[in-house]
Amino acid sequence: MPPIIVQEKCIGCGACVAVCPYQALEMDEDNIAELVIDKCKDDWSCVPVCPTEAVLKPPADFKVTKRVYTEKEIEQMGLIVKGTNAFWKEKKE
Ligand code: SF4
Repeated sequence: MPPIIVQEKCIGCGACVAVCPYQALEMDEDNIAELVIDKCKDDWSCVPVCPTEAVLKPPADFKVTKRVYTEKEIEQMGLIVKGTNAFWKEKKE
């Protein structure tokens, strides 16, 4: 399961890009990290290195389909964010 990248939280430090052993993260033209979904192998080394908690571990049944998400999109999907984890609002946390 790939991580969720939160656009507004990313400060463009590049730590997640540097640590990923599969080159599954890239910086876009605005210096925001974005996921290359097909390359992700669920390594999770990107999550703890992010200084702003912009890289989230999603719920087990959430399918990551976008390279980067906005905070509004995350809210609209019914997710809440606690630290580096995201949870469904209705489900147990
Ligand atoms: S580690 Fe976090 S802040 Fe740094 S580029 Fe990656 S997502 Fe952005």
